[in-house]
Parts: sequence; structure tokens; C-alpha cells
Amino acid sequence: AKIAGRNTIRFFDPGLQSVITTRLALEADLRRAMPLNEFRLYYQIQADDQGRITGAEVLIRWQHPKRGLVSPAVFIPLAEETGAIVEIGDWVMQMACEQLRAWQQHARMRHLELAVNVSAVQFHQQDFIDKVCRLMADYGEIAGLLKLELTESVMLDSAEEVIHKIQILKNLGLRFSMDDFGTGYSSLAYLKRLPLDQLKIDQSFVRDIANDPSAAVIIQTIIGMAQNLGLEVIAEGLETKEQLALLKQYGCRHYQGYLLGRPLPINEFDAVFAQANPG
Ligand code: C2E
Ligand code: CA
Ligand code: CA
Ligand code: CA
Repeated sequence: AKIAGRNTIRFFDPGLQSVITTRLALEADLRRAMPLNEFRLYYQIQADDQGRITGAEVLIRWQHPKRGLVSPAVFIPLAEETGAIVEIGDWVMQMACEQLRAWQQHARMRHLELAVNVSAVQFHQQDFIDKVCRLMADYGEIAGLLKLELTESVMLDSAEEVIHKIQILKNLGLRFSMDDFGTGYSSLAYLKRLPLDQLKIDQSFVRDIANDPSAAVIIQTIIGMAQNLGLEVIAEGLETKEQLALLKQYGCRHYQGYLLGRPLPINEFDAVFAQANPG
């Protein structure tokens, strides 16, 4: 092989080349996914310690014509890099509002809440707040049932800015949860200033709660901190009864995970809810 110049990218590694080719193809397909209606929303149960379904987290999937159902873990980071996340995020939020409105027609489902993931890239857009305000002008009646999940990466921006944005939306009735809590960049001093409603314990700690004493200690610390800050705590990635028993023992009252249910298309979610709430 010839010696490449400093700024020349040379694809001498066939493995790497195929990774890059796949990425470029995926990127091109992603641009067409919205107009071709290829995104799907799945709903995963959130429940309380009485076993009552309180709502769901909205999780996106991409129904790719050739690749099948593509995980958001694959395409959300790509969408964040290309900026496509803005359009995708707007769509998810609008669909969540529509779903909450649809549930308003059913007495037994009127109380259900939806948690929507908001990427830091999306949150930091200049017009993010304006857009959500405009959306709430149309869907004001369900604002109190909408919870936005942020990750600790929003804290890379100035605290004043982030607090201000959250506060505007809270004034409209929306609530906020800090997702993947404990895994990211988190200055506790910063966190304390954010007007949040909920901390979501990351699934990596929940996974290890029964067999790794340090994971158990971290969870107990998060719960204690949340109690001091007046925040609700929800644990994600709950898979076993043993994990549930420990979480309960430590004072966590809200749960989400395969033990309660996998993410489901809306008709299946409604069916599960109806079965759990007969009459
Ligand atoms: P996340 O927000 O932390 O969502 C939780 C992930 O854990 C979901 O993966 C969910 O299916 C999975 N999960 C739920 N229960 C369990 C369990 O008991 N065990 C295990 N091992 N996993 C469980 P999913 O649906 O593949 O989503 C991956 C990530 O993609 C999400 O992580 C979130 O960061 C992102 N994402 C999903 N939908 C959206 C969206 O609409 N907008 C944005 N910005 N990001 C999204
Ligand atoms: Ca989430
Ligand atoms: Ca999470
Ligand atoms: Ca995560």
C-alpha cells in the first residue's frame, strides 16, 4: 500500500470499509424514513408498587424495508449527528399527544401518562420551547400527562438556560424525568437546581442490584437523594422478582422493565391494560 498523506482517509481495512459503507447507506435511508412512514412507536408499561399501570414510556423503532425493525440504539445516535433527530423528536412528541388525547375518550385510561425521550440535541435547539408551547396550544388538556425524559447530557449547557427552559414547560403542566440517572456527567450541585419531578435509575444498576453490593449502594444513595430533593424515583430494566423485592425494600415505588412487560405496539398495550383492568 502507498503511504497516504496526513489528511487522506484510506480504506485498507475491509472490515472498517464495510462499517463505513453500512453507515452511509443507513444515513441515506434515515433521511427517507420519515416521508416513507417507517417509524413505529412502542409503549412500555410503567407501574407503581400496587401493581397499577400508571402509563408508559414511548420507544421508537424503525421499520426498515430490508433490515427489519432497527433499534433506536443504532439510529438515534446517527439521527443526532445528522440533525434528523429534530424532525423525529417532533413527530414522537406529536404522536404521544395524540395517544394521550385518544385515551381521554376512555374513562379507565384517562389517567395514563406518557414518558417521551428528548435528546439533548433536540432540547438545545433554539426553537424547541416555542415548538412545544405551540403543541400545547393544541393539546393543553393533556399537558399534565406528558413527561419528558432528559439525560444528563443536557447539563453540558449552562444551568440557567436549562432551568429556564424546563420551567417554561413545567408552567404548561409538563413534567420532567432525568433518564439513565447515575451514568452520565452529573454535578450534584447542578442537578439540585433543576426543577425535575423524577429520577430514573439506570438499568445497569438495576441489573446488578442483587449480585453487586456497590450497585445496591448506588441505588440506595440515589433513592435517598431523590427523597431529599422531593423527587419521585423510577427504576428501569426491572427483570426479576428478586430485583423488585430489593427495590421495594429500598423505597423505590415506580418500576419499568421486562418483568412488567416488553415495549408493545399500541393495540397490544391497550389489550394488556384492558386485561389488567377489567370491568
Ligand atoms: P432508554 O430511554 O434508556 O430506554 C430504555 C431501553 O431499555 C429501551 O431500549 C427498552 O426497550 C429497554 N428495556 C426496557 N426494559 C428492559 C429490561 O427489563 N431489560 C433490558 N435489558 N432492557 C430493557 P430501546 O427501546 O432499544 O431504546 C434504546 C434507547 O434509544 C433509549 O434508551 C433511548 O435513549 C433511545 N430512544 C428510544 N426512543 C427514543 C425517542 O423517541 N427519542 C429519542 N431521542 N431517543 C429514543
Ligand atoms: Ca428513556
Ligand atoms: Ca433509560
Ligand atoms: Ca439508556
